[in-house]
Amino acid sequence: MSKTVRDYIRSIADFPHEGIVFRDVTTLFADARGFRMAIDQLLHPYAGLSFDKVVGLEARGFILGGAVAHQLSTGFVPIRKKGKLPGAVISEAYQLEYGEAVMEVHDDALRAGERVLIVDDLLATGGTAEAGIKLCRRLGAEVIGCAFVIDLPELGGRKRLEEMDMPVHALCEFD
Ligand code: 5GP
Repeated sequence: MSKTVRDYIRSIADFPHEGIVFRDVTTLFADARGFRMAIDQLLHPYAGLSFDKVVGLEARGFILGGAVAHQLSTGFVPIRKKGKLPGAVISEAYQLEYGEAVMEVHDDALRAGERVLIVDDLLATGGTAEAGIKLCRRLGAEVIGCAFVIDLPELGGRKRLEEMDMPVHALCEFD
């Protein structure tokens, strides 16, 4: 049997904290066949649709999103953690297990009516992606979908995004 995208993902126990199993996509990105397969499969449901921008969520969403944008012949827009972007930004705060995080986008990165695809490596609680969707929508863009390599269904992110009328595409799942 030939390898699937899931087979290229390495699981590392007790990172970044004891009891957490980190799904490491660097092993997928490092493999030419695996990386190409992941980009092709991320694009699969959107065949025939047009996009103006691909938005990548820091940080692994930049690696995937850059390749996806190249394939779609669109521009690429980064959504970054607070304080990293040099120009004027808008911000969205969201809850973490302990405390709060803030994501930002340049306030001129998207124009009203632009059709956007959001890309990240992994969907867990959906907090990061929800903040990204809100930022895009606040700039007037239309988010057509969110594409992830990995979904962790037990953490409820897909349900959370679907409740925002956001179609979710994921290539594989882990418990
Ligand atoms: P959420 O906001 O959905 O709870 O968490 C998703 C974000 O956390 C994504 O940006 C993702 O990169 C990161 N993340 C959380 N856990 C993991 C993991 O096990 N592996 C990887 N690669 N990223 C993770």
